[in-house]
Amino acid sequence: MKPRLLSKTKYLNGLQCPKYLWILFNEPEKIPEVDAATQYIFDQGHLVGELAKELFPGGIDIHDEDFIANMKQTRELLQLRKPLFEAGISAGSIYARADILNPAGEGEWDIVEVKSSTSVKDVNIDDVSFQKFCYEKSGLKIRKCFLMYINNKYVKNGDIAPEQLFSMEDISDRVDEASPGIQDRIDAMFDVITRTQCPDITIGKSCSDPYGCPLRELCWNFLPENSVFNLYRGGKKSIELFQNGVLAIRDIPADCNLTDIQQIQRKCEMSGEPCINRQEIRNFLRTLKYPLYYIDFETFSPAVPLFDGTWPYQKIPFQFSLHVVEQDEAKPKHYSFLAEGTDDPRPGLLSELNRGLGDRGTVIVYNQTFEKSVLKELADAFPEHKDRIENVSARIADLLIPFRSFYYYHPAQKGSASIKKVLPAITGKGYEGMEINDGEDASIAFQTITYGDVPEEVRSKVRKDLEKYCGLDTEGMIWIIDKLKEL
Ligand code: SF4
Repeated sequence: MKPRLLSKTKYLNGLQCPKYLWILFNEPEKIPEVDAATQYIFDQGHLVGELAKELFPGGIDIHDEDFIANMKQTRELLQLRKPLFEAGISAGSIYARADILNPAGEGEWDIVEVKSSTSVKDVNIDDVSFQKFCYEKSGLKIRKCFLMYINNKYVKNGDIAPEQLFSMEDISDRVDEASPGIQDRIDAMFDVITRTQCPDITIGKSCSDPYGCPLRELCWNFLPENSVFNLYRGGKKSIELFQNGVLAIRDIPADCNLTDIQQIQRKCEMSGEPCINRQEIRNFLRTLKYPLYYIDFETFSPAVPLFDGTWPYQKIPFQFSLHVVEQDEAKPKHYSFLAEGTDDPRPGLLSELNRGLGDRGTVIVYNQTFEKSVLKELADAFPEHKDRIENVSARIADLLIPFRSFYYYHPAQKGSASIKKVLPAITGKGYEGMEINDGEDASIAFQTITYGDVPEEVRSKVRKDLEKYCGLDTEGMIWIIDKLKEL
């Protein structure tokens, strides 16, 4: 049998769920491949990690991915008393590889863990406490533990300044508080790993906390189509119902303390019919004034800002779709923009937007919080467009509202008011079969074809997919409004 080593990643997985841990060791083929969104997060983390190293001049990268070779190199390099990146050390059956091991004091070391998040999270403390435990067990003296994370107040001006991009927090005390009992937790994990049967663990909050578990499909597939976990803002109530043996919304007892919206869901589930509040829909439609401008932005949010004047994770719009309907029954006109090249896409986007957007009539979006924040950041960055953008922002009507308020609800929405669920439920048309079918996909696809090394035919295909996706978001809104009018 292969020796079994518990790494810090697997330790964290084990803290999240013993079933996940068991499958990792015993049936790893059940774990799906990393999806594009997770890979993107890994890639951003890698980029951030590389920048962090610049703050430790003279540091040595221990490139070797093979853990035995890595540990051998680490043992040799420790003698040099220089910052070490990815220094792998095992102690018995556990293994740690800190992002940065920095020499400190008299023969001591500091652990510096680098994260692409913008604050210290509890899971980071567990992560570092495991590393400290492993290093100390191997005989290393650890003085302090730090977490380096992204400073979201940093504004790029010229080359990236890593000393400003990162915040560094001393988490030694929190690590010490989390440390008692680690050996017991590790022992308990080995007890799980070596069992012949997978532990029987019930689904619940741990499936998405602190990370989305990749085994969700496997573990959740026994639930009925519209389960109690689809209750709108169900939270603890969904879990309680599930624990009491109620799986389907339609089986929720009549005396259960549901919100008005959850009652609507239950009623629709029992009847199989949509619930429609015609008066409120009429009120919403009356607020719309022609010409109608249906608009949708796509954005990307790089951890490390790309353009001067922008900050980490700022939403940078790179695409919009705009359908204009001059009057009732008129054929919509379509305007669109999709950035080309690696420069800041916002100036080009703004001038194209100005071409299509008139200065009167309602601007219809789906989820105004997002679109208004994009517009506000554009106005702040390009003050010459401020008046016009503010005029647009003031004319916004949010098509999400009738659905988030459940003035219209169809059981096929499964408790969601997102346009991705509403459009097929109300019109029968949707995003199925499209290569790009949500904003996250669009953002990753754009960055891949813009900043990655991609053959021209792929680039041109992805651009067409992006146009198609964003165009459907605004055309879909027209169809939804048409359906609401019919109602
Ligand atoms: S989906 Fe939930 S129950 Fe299943 S392995 Fe993951 S965390 Fe555990």
